[in-house]
Amino acid sequence: MDKASPARGAIRRLCYHAWFTILRCLGLSSAVFNCDLHCHSTCSDGLLAPADVAARAAANGVDLLALSDHDSLDGLLAARSAAAAAGMGFVNGVEISIEWQALQIHILGYAFDSSHQALNAGLESIRAGRVDRAQQMSSELEKVGIAGAFDGAMRYAANPSLISRAHFGRFLVETGVAKDLRSVFESYLVPGRPGYVDHRWATLADSLAWVHAAGGLVAVAHPGRYKLTRAEMRRFLAEYKDLGGEAIEVVSGSHTQEHVDTFGRYAREYGFLASRGSDFHGPGESYFDLGQLAALPDGLKPIWKAF
Ligand code: AMP
Ligand code: MN
Ligand code: MN
Ligand code: MN
Repeated sequence: MDKASPARGAIRRLCYHAWFTILRCLGLSSAVFNCDLHCHSTCSDGLLAPADVAARAAANGVDLLALSDHDSLDGLLAARSAAAAAGMGFVNGVEISIEWQALQIHILGYAFDSSHQALNAGLESIRAGRVDRAQQMSSELEKVGIAGAFDGAMRYAANPSLISRAHFGRFLVETGVAKDLRSVFESYLVPGRPGYVDHRWATLADSLAWVHAAGGLVAVAHPGRYKLTRAEMRRFLAEYKDLGGEAIEVVSGSHTQEHVDTFGRYAREYGFLASRGSDFHGPGESYFDLGQLAALPDGLKPIWKAF
C-alpha cells in the first residue's frame, strides 16, 4: 500500500502539519476544511481503540472524522463521544466488503442510522464465516511450512469475529516470513498465492441497499487499488451509478498522484461526489496519518457537503 520510503513519509507528514498550522494561524482554516473519512480501529483491523483514533485525529487537526471499520459498527459510539470531547465533527462510517466479478471491492457507507436493522443484519451476514475462512487460511499456510498462523493472527485480532488478512499479515511479519505488510501482500494472502481463501462477501447492490435504507450515502473506497482494466472500471462505475452510488474516494492513502488525477476525472465525468480518506490502520503501519493527505483537487464536489 505504501508508496514511498518511511523517511519521505515522515518529511511529508511534517510538511502537511506545518502547512495546516500556517493556514489555521492565518485564519484560513475554512480553506482547508480537513476531512478524513476513512480509518480503522481495533473493532476491525486497526491498531488503536476507537476513542484513541478520534483523539489522534483531533490532535492532527482533523475537522470532520468518519471511523469506517470493516463490516462493523461496533466502534462508532466510542469514537463519536471522543470526537465530541475533543470538539471535532464526527460522522458514522463503515467499509463494506463486496464481491464484484470475482474481485474483492470495498464500499464505504456514511452518515447512516447505526441502529438500522437491515444494515446491521447485512453486516452480520458478511462477518459470519470469517473465523472459518481464517482456519482454512491457516491450513493453506501450513502446507507451505508456516505453522500456527490461526492462533498467531488471532493474537492481533481484538475483535475475533473480524479476523482479517491484515491480522495474518502482522503475524507473517512478526515471524519473519516477510519483512513488512507490503511484502506479505506481494507473496501471500492474495489470489494465486499461499494463504488466500475465497469468502462470500456482499453484492454491490446489497451494500448500497443497506446503507441507503439506513439513510446514508456511499463511496467507492480506493478505486485505484483494484485490478480492473479501463473498460472494466467504466463498467463497474456505470453499474454503481445505476444502483444509486453517490461518491468515489479520490484522495486516498492508497492512491498515487496519477490515481488522484484519474479518479478526479471519473468523478467529474460520472457526476460523483468526491471523498478523501487516509485509510489509517495504525502508527508505524500506515504511510498516511489521520488527516495528513492532500486536499481534494479543485472543481470536485466534496461528499461532506452532502452530510
Ligand atoms: P480481509 O477483509 O480479511 O480480506 O482483509 C483485507 C485487509 O487486508 C485490508 O483491509 C487491509 O487492511 C489489508 N490489506 C489488503 N491488501 C493489502 C496490501 N496490499 N497492503 C497492506 N494491507 C493490505
Ligand atoms: Mn484493513
Ligand atoms: Mn479497503
Ligand atoms: Mn480501509
